[in-house]
Amino acid sequence: MAEQSNKWTSAIDTTKPSIARAYDVVLHGKDNFEVDRAFVAEIAKVIPEIYDVAAYNRQILGRGVRFLIDQGVTQFLDLGSGLPTVQNTHQVAQSVNPEARVVYVDNDPMVLAHGRALLAENDRTGVVTSDLREPAAILADEAVKRLIDFSRPVAVMMVGILHHLHDDEDPWGIVEAYMAAVPSGSHLFVTHFCDSFPGSREAEEKYLAILGTGRFRTVAEITSFFKGHDLVEPGVVPLPQWRPEEDVPGELSVGQRLMFGGIAVKP
Ligand code: SAM
Repeated sequence: MAEQSNKWTSAIDTTKPSIARAYDVVLHGKDNFEVDRAFVAEIAKVIPEIYDVAAYNRQILGRGVRFLIDQGVTQFLDLGSGLPTVQNTHQVAQSVNPEARVVYVDNDPMVLAHGRALLAENDRTGVVTSDLREPAAILADEAVKRLIDFSRPVAVMMVGILHHLHDDEDPWGIVEAYMAAVPSGSHLFVTHFCDSFPGSREAEEKYLAILGTGRFRTVAEITSFFKGHDLVEPGVVPLPQWRPEEDVPGELSVGQRLMFGGIAVKP
């Protein structure tokens, strides 16, 4: 059986869009409600390529996890993991190294419900329903501690999540707290909305007004999440340009440069 932990009893709220379900909409999933689809329709007015952006994010997630496995990493703490979709972190990692261990952390109650079904037969993967803004609680969680050995390198994954933390919640301090808990040789993997296109302010206003979160930060701000760690080549770049399997020809579209990301290693 999969490791599970659920201190949350909150019901699924279908009156407001949720980050996890809205992301499911852009990934063409089925685990969403009308309110989530209406939100995405509003965003698509400003960013018609929003569906492609989600696909680029899932693609770099797969490339990044394979890269991390190649570096010898066998433990993954996937923070803000999202609803199960295709090529989830444990599937990518365990297809290369069946011994790889993955803990998914998400605060959306639907993620636990769907994760439980997906992981029923996998004892090297767990789902924790918790708020990643509380690193001390997550690092002390029994399911996390059972699956992750913090004396060995860990991949701390914050893929498509830090833009959902407001500046005054100190996302930089939260990243630092996780990275302080893992040893040298651990990695940090971040992807993030960027203010790299003319409509970014309007998009940010819509995200904040309807969803309540969604910061489009500068490349410098995104890069500063990696402070104290060594960025691996090619650094913090538009998602399709991070170690692509095929060359990305020509000038990047808005969708291609809307999110930036990278991976760094803890020295
Ligand atoms: N990491 C996945 C990916 O990139 O494909 C999913 C990204 S999805 C856009 C962001 C996820 O973070 C959602 O599932 C949402 O529920 C979760 N999330 C948002 N705020 C969170 C918080 N404070 N604590 C834990 N999870 C959170």
